[in-house]
Amino acid sequence: TAKADGRNRIAAFDVELRSSRLDTARLVDDLRRALTDAEFRVHYQPVVDSRTGEVRSLEALLRWTRPDGTSVPPDEFIPAAEDSGLIIPIGAWVLRHATEQATEWHQRFGLSLSVNVSGHQLSDPQFAETIFEALSASGLPPTALILEITETALVAVTGSTATDVHSCLQRLRDHGIRIAIDDFGTGYASLSYLRHLPVDILKIDRSFVRSDGGNAPGPQDHAFIRAILHLSETLRLSTIAEGVETPQQAALLQHMNCHLAQGFLFHRPMTQEAVEHLLAATTSGPEGSAPHGTHLT
Ligand code: C2E
Ligand code: MG
Ligand code: MG
Ligand code: MG
Repeated sequence: TAKADGRNRIAAFDVELRSSRLDTARLVDDLRRALTDAEFRVHYQPVVDSRTGEVRSLEALLRWTRPDGTSVPPDEFIPAAEDSGLIIPIGAWVLRHATEQATEWHQRFGLSLSVNVSGHQLSDPQFAETIFEALSASGLPPTALILEITETALVAVTGSTATDVHSCLQRLRDHGIRIAIDDFGTGYASLSYLRHLPVDILKIDRSFVRSDGGNAPGPQDHAFIRAILHLSETLRLSTIAEGVETPQQAALLQHMNCHLAQGFLFHRPMTQEAVEHLLAATTSGPEGSAPHGTHLT
């Protein structure tokens, strides 16, 4: 009967809900263990000048490999880390670890480091201290650090928290740390927040760069990319195109005067060792070619 059907469906839903709660609880336990048992690694994806291929900065991307060898993508575990509050110690670990590794790259090649931070970290009253501690422990100058915050996370902070987050970002920026808005264009935000927030860089979300099936962005994506570039220029921000996968996309972006790019066409996220090989290979030409650029813009 319809009634029994409904009951069954509710029962099935209940079982699903309970098992997903169990899954989440297990995931959180595993994350806690991952932190103490050193199961996390940081990989780095270069941002390049697409005209020359020159590396300009490196984005730290967290990697988790379970003891059984399987790896869990950040999009799967970051939300659980956020909900459980574990993102605070995990985020602090990423900052300490990545600044430590990037200091040498900064000293030798003038490269900057980008670190992703979630909204939960921004709302933590200790956030600025965590950053300053990582900088002073590593010796990385604040001007070489970029914090990437997704547009969605920025839009989600409202009310009195928004005022705190705003003044925290302002304080970090007063020290020379740069702020990037990640996945820009996907946050459904009123653009007016850009007038008030201390921001330096917009990262164009890869959904605008990627076409639906084809190799280059479609005409509508064009319009969006142009609009973002125009906005960036007006506000004197730098722009980075994310997720560049084909030469066609790179050519089109260059044609639109967007020269900073990141994507599989240039480099995938790589280990610290791979970064070192890459930097050594690109700077030790026969004549010992020119050093990398010293700033992002
Ligand atoms: P994101 O910061 O926007 O990072 C870019 C993501 O796109 C990375 O995925 C990168 O591997 C991927 N990607 C780069 N180029 C291409 C491309 O050409 N094609 C395609 N299809 N993908 C490309 P990943 O490493 O899986 O990270 C996913 C997201 O997880 C990140 O997005 C970021 O929001 C978050 N995340 C990663 N590490 C951290 C972290 O340490 N802390 C926090 N709070 N979030 C992190
Ligand atoms: Mg990012
Ligand atoms: Mg992004
Ligand atoms: Mg993203």
